Formats: sequence, structure tokens, C-alpha cells
Amino acid sequence: MEDYRQKCINLLKERGVTLNDIADAARFLQADYHVDLLKEELLDSVLSVLAKREVQLAIMTAVELDKLAESGKMFDKDLEAILMRDEGLYGVDEVIAYGICNLYGSIALTNFGFIDKKKYGIIESLNSHGKSSGICNTFLDDIVGAIAASAASRFAHRWAR
Ligand code: MG
Repeated sequence: MEDYRQKCINLLKERGVTLNDIADAARFLQADYHVDLLKEELLDSVLSVLAKREVQLAIMTAVELDKLAESGKMFDKDLEAILMRDEGLYGVDEVIAYGICNLYGSIALTNFGFIDKKKYGIIESLNSHGKSSGICNTFLDDIVGAIAASAASRFAHRWAR
């Protein structure tokens, strides 16, 4: 199977998410422990998370489902409506995100819950854009939160060495 990292970086970009945005969210999650930390110092960890195949496949799945809902071509119109209004009780979007966090241990999981609640930076803008008509970021906001949380966890573990 191919390495889809660059493809995923392009998919994220196409959906309005840059590596810089994700590194900034990861920095936010580590800011209490490293006051002077720059987002640039997290970039390496973001790229490393994006190198994992399970992460790549989660991104491809998430972006595809958001785009499919937007296209109005889903077979199940109830599901399409749920995705388009980012129904709070849906929860499958978070479950896909846990799949990413699980690769990086408990710090990634708790960080994900935290940034999902706080809606920092790119997470907030994806979430609020997703509320505009015709745009669906139901899966993407969680995927981006999970990548940032995982990058923060990787950074924390490497720092502790
Ligand atoms: Mg969501």
C-alpha cells in the first residue's frame, strides 16, 4: 500500500486546514508545560503523526464522508441530514478520531477531549464553518483535533526522555 501522507496533506489543505494550523493547535495543548514553545517545534510531530497509515486512512475516510454529505448524493438521506447539521449526539466522528489518538496513548486521548471542548483555533473555525449552509466539517474537526492531540502527546513523550 502506498504512503498517502502527501495526499492527505493536500486533502486537508483543500478543506482549509494547513500543517501550520495543526501545529498551532498542538502547541496550544502543550502551552501549560512549555511556556515559550513555538508551533514550529511541533511541526515535526505533526508530520510524524501524518506518516502513519491508520491516520492517513482515517483522514481519507473523514474527508470523503464530509464531501459526500455536501454533495447531497448519500443513499441514506436521514444520515446525510444528520451529518449536514453536525448532530451533537451522532458521535461516530469522535470514534474515528479516537482511532488516531489510540496510537499515541492516554495523553492523546485526554488532549483530544480537551481541545474538542475548548474548540481552539482551527477546530473552532472548522466547527463554525460547518454550521454554514452547504458545508460539512462533521468528521474533519475531530480528525484535526486528534492529529493535534497526537502530535502533542508525541512531543510530551519525547521531551520526557
Ligand atoms: Mg465533529
